[in-house]
Amino acid sequence: MKVEIRKKLDLEVVGIKRLDNLGEIDYLFSTRGGTSEMERLDFDRKGFNDGEVKRSYIAAANSFGVDVADIFVSNQVHGSEVLSLIERPKKNEMFGVIEIDGVVTNLSKIVLVVLTADCVPVLMADVKTGVIGAVHAGWRGTVAGISAVAVKTMVDSFGSKREDIVIVFGPAIGPCCYKVGDEVVETIKKRFSSSKKYLLETVGEGFKLDLFGLNRFLLREAGVPDGNIVSSGLCTHCNPELFYSYRREGAQTGRMMSAIMLR
Ligand SMILES: [Zn+2]
Repeated sequence: MKVEIRKKLDLEVVGIKRLDNLGEIDYLFSTRGGTSEMERLDFDRKGFNDGEVKRSYIAAANSFGVDVADIFVSNQVHGSEVLSLIERPKKNEMFGVIEIDGVVTNLSKIVLVVLTADCVPVLMADVKTGVIGAVHAGWRGTVAGISAVAVKTMVDSFGSKREDIVIVFGPAIGPCCYKVGDEVVETIKKRFSSSKKYLLETVGEGFKLDLFGLNRFLLREAGVPDGNIVSSGLCTHCNPELFYSYRREGAQTGRMMSAIMLR
C-alpha cells in the first residue's frame, strides 16, 4: 500500500510511503479529521479566528514540532509563479499575505503549506539536499505549468538535480468526478497535443479532466523521472468522509492542509 490513513500526533492524515523516512524531511496531508468536534480539522485561513481552524493549525504545528508562527501560508491566486524562499519572510508576511501558489526553500523549521478542497496539492522533496517545495495546482495553475516551474526553481535557485526530486500529489478531485466546461476543454485542447489522454469524454456527460495525469505529464516533460512521481490517487469528491470537496460542498466547505518541512 502506498497510501494509508493514519495519525500524526493529533491529526488524521494521509500517509504516503514514498515520503516516509526521508531523514530531515517531514510532511503531512490532512484529512477533514475525525467525526467528533475535537477531531475535526479545517485549515481555511480566512476562518483563523474560529476555534476549530486555530486548533487545527496548532495541532499541525505540534505535529512538526514547531510554533504556529513557523507555518508559512500564502494567499493562493491560481497563478503559476513560484517563490524561492532564500530567507525567512518577515513575521507579518507569514500568514495569508504573499500572493503565490508555489514555494520552494532549503530553510529549516519553516512549514510550507498548500490549502485545498479539490485542487491538487503537490509536495516536492530533493531527497539528496533537503530542498523542499509545495505547490497549489488547480486547473489554471496546472495548465500554466506551475509544477514544472517549481522544479525549475529547485534546480535554478538551489542546485537540485531533477533525478533527486520526489514529487507527491495529495488528495484532489479525480478524473472520476472532475467535470469541466467548454472554457477548460478548449484551453486544454489548445495547449496539449495529447489532450485526449487527460480529457475523458462520456456521452451525454461531457468531459472530465485528469489533473493528476496532466501534472504528471508536465513534470515528466520538465525532466523528472516518472518513477519519482507518486500520486495518492485519492479523490476528494468520492470520499466525503475523508475530504472536503469544493465541487461537492460549495464555497463554504473547509480546507485540507498539505505541508512539508525541513527539520
Ligand atoms: Zn471521484
